[in-house]
Amino acid sequence: MLTMTKQGLFCRAGDFYIDPSRGVDHAVITHAHSDHARRGSRQYYCVRSGEALLRARIGQNIPVKTFAFAEPFEINGVKISLHPAGHILGSSQVRLEYAGEVWVASGDYKRDRDPTCEPFEPIPCDVFVTEGTFGTPNYVWEKDMDLGKQIHDWWMRNAARGVNSVLFAYSLGKAQRVLGVLEPFADRPVHCDPSVAELNECYREQGIALAPTTCLSELDSDRRPVGELFLVPQSFLKTPRARMLGPRYETAFASGWMAGGRGFGSYNKGFVMSDHADWNDLVRTVLETGAKRVYVQHRGKGALVKHLRTLGVDAYPDSDMVPGEMFQLALF
Ligand SMILES: [Zn+2]
Ligand SMILES: [Zn+2]
Repeated sequence: MLTMTKQGLFCRAGDFYIDPSRGVDHAVITHAHSDHARRGSRQYYCVRSGEALLRARIGQNIPVKTFAFAEPFEINGVKISLHPAGHILGSSQVRLEYAGEVWVASGDYKRDRDPTCEPFEPIPCDVFVTEGTFGTPNYVWEKDMDLGKQIHDWWMRNAARGVNSVLFAYSLGKAQRVLGVLEPFADRPVHCDPSVAELNECYREQGIALAPTTCLSELDSDRRPVGELFLVPQSFLKTPRARMLGPRYETAFASGWMAGGRGFGSYNKGFVMSDHADWNDLVRTVLETGAKRVYVQHRGKGALVKHLRTLGVDAYPDSDMVPGEMFQLALF
């Protein structure tokens, strides 16, 4: 039903792509991150809660058809529905049903708690196309950590010493998750990069509670903040605005890459906060779908494919999704 092409996952029966890498006629979008949502398609399809983010990222006037989670629709006779992936607000798995067969393409997903998006739901299927960003066994992290308290404690410790805190996070998804977990703790505003601030509003419009924020572009440039928290992308320190931090500040990075035993790199601190499934959750999720066949996308294809095979799952890297697979599967 799906094949891997240069433009990305393609459904021949329905003549549409999932997260195509260039403009196509029909583009089903799993979420608004730039490696999944690209300009130039004639018709976009996404879940309703992800629409504002998609427009903010690739254009307010793009043609988008939106659907509720689990609401079925059709493209050229293929039945499609979108289901929560737990990655960022509006992130979706794509369920396809055609000729008695069900495929699910996961998009990016995670199983960890996240107050800023809809929780992942395992969808039973014949074939599961899973991401594998952290598909090696050294990427395993503790679940149910109180990340909001950890970040707030770090901020307050720095504030007590009169030092500003600079937390680096990806502008879409991660930054809002930081603000979501800080919401029960923060009683003063978090200063956000303009790229973060714009997307915060898309979240708030969907009723997601975030900590109070200001936008850095609205802060008086003569102001000299002390003991405050800045939520910015990594490029921030190279911008003129970074001067307001003064000479003494602490840095931290919120990312799944902080796991894996490589330390914090050049940062003073790291928070293990991933919007992708860790090794254990990738394996668990594959098993929960009950899929007879699994394709692994992104990194870690080797380790995850090998491990799934030892568990009796018919697993392949996504490069094996070539035309003809559909008919082979039908023969089993
Ligand atoms: Zn993503
Ligand atoms: Zn991705």
